[in-house]
Amino acid sequence: MPNVTILGATGSIGVNTLDVISQHQDRYKVFALTANSNVEVLAKQCIEWNPKYAVMADEASADQLEQRLRAQGVGTEVLAGLAGHEYVARHAETDYVMAAIVGAAGLLPTLAAARAGKRVLLANKEALVMSGRLFMDAIRDHHAELLPIDSEHNAIFQCMPADISKGLEKSGVKRILITASGGPFRTTPLHELSNMNPSQACAHPNWDMGRKISVDSATMMNKGLEIIEACWLFNTTPENIQVVLHPQSIIHSMVEYADGSVLAQLSNPDMRTPIAYALAWPERIEAGVEQLDLFEIARLDFERPDYQRFPCLKLAQEAMQSGGTATAILNAANEIAVQGFLDGHIRFTDIARIVETTLEQVSHHEASNLEIILTDDGAAREFSIHQIRELAA
Ligand code: NAD
Ligand code: MG
Repeated sequence: MPNVTILGATGSIGVNTLDVISQHQDRYKVFALTANSNVEVLAKQCIEWNPKYAVMADEASADQLEQRLRAQGVGTEVLAGLAGHEYVARHAETDYVMAAIVGAAGLLPTLAAARAGKRVLLANKEALVMSGRLFMDAIRDHHAELLPIDSEHNAIFQCMPADISKGLEKSGVKRILITASGGPFRTTPLHELSNMNPSQACAHPNWDMGRKISVDSATMMNKGLEIIEACWLFNTTPENIQVVLHPQSIIHSMVEYADGSVLAQLSNPDMRTPIAYALAWPERIEAGVEQLDLFEIARLDFERPDYQRFPCLKLAQEAMQSGGTATAILNAANEIAVQGFLDGHIRFTDIARIVETTLEQVSHHEASNLEIILTDDGAAREFSIHQIRELAA
């Protein structure tokens, strides 16, 4: 029975992963759970699941968790910090690692899982955006298994031929059609976008997600990050990926073949479907998701993306074309700008401006090692914080 470690257990993906595992306790065992600082939720999860390890991002939260668990008579060993995260990610008894930390904070623990040859269930797209080449090399060199959790990439994975190692073109694949709902502001008049507040940006029409990815969906930076993610996962370039706006979020992406066929994966928008797929692959298990009712859905719509409304989409495509650490710079600037917006320091439309200026001003380099990536990530964060201070002044 595989032991599962969940990095980011208290978040939206973490909670959905535990939900799927709860339906299959004869198949999977929860080995370690980790979180940033949410002692309350991680304590509850540890009481329910009794994992061997629990990890919090800082010592103070870890101490609090430890006290709670001892008071309840739970024997889970509590660790702290990046070292604790990496320890459980590469632990000899860990078989599967759900990488569900949000943002750059997930990179090192996810990389540790890859380097330890685990089955990596990758939700943390930012890790791949920052260090695509290094990460994919680590998966290959350490014989790890990589299963995409992001619904689009999970759909693409399901529609791809089993072996794409000889390249997409030789496998008869022409293009990837990545779908996007368009988020909460798809039809908002353009002049109103600058007045949109965090709760409006986080009110996604189809998906219930963490706040950072919700804002990314509103700017469509999320789709931009997903194009980069798809390039690394499926060894292709942005030119071979077409974004298709599909407001219903029923088709999660498609693969177009040379013979004119287009294969699609459809399901209700519920992350438990890709999570169950990745846990059980190559088998299929119940996910607790309602079956699709096509008569109820009745119609599926498609539109071209609008780059004027969604400048972040273009910025991400261009960063991928620039290559090297440009995508890490894009990601870092976006993380800082989104946090600045969520904290009420900048306007919604400032997010794209900050990312664009950071990409212009912070030079990128060949992403040949982790140090270079982390240095450029740091420079981009510093530059973006400086811009937020100027805007807020
Ligand atoms: P979330 O904000 O709900 O949860 C984030 C998790 O990461 C929490 O458990 C939090 O404690 C942990 N975390 C944050 N900072 C940390 C740090 N410094 N150290 C350790 N842990 C830390 O986010 P989410 O919506 O679950 O998204 C998680 C990842 O999955 C993101 O990369 C997101 O892009 C991706 N994803 C999410 C969805 C979705 O439906 N929610 C879909 C596709 C991809
Ligand atoms: Mg997605």
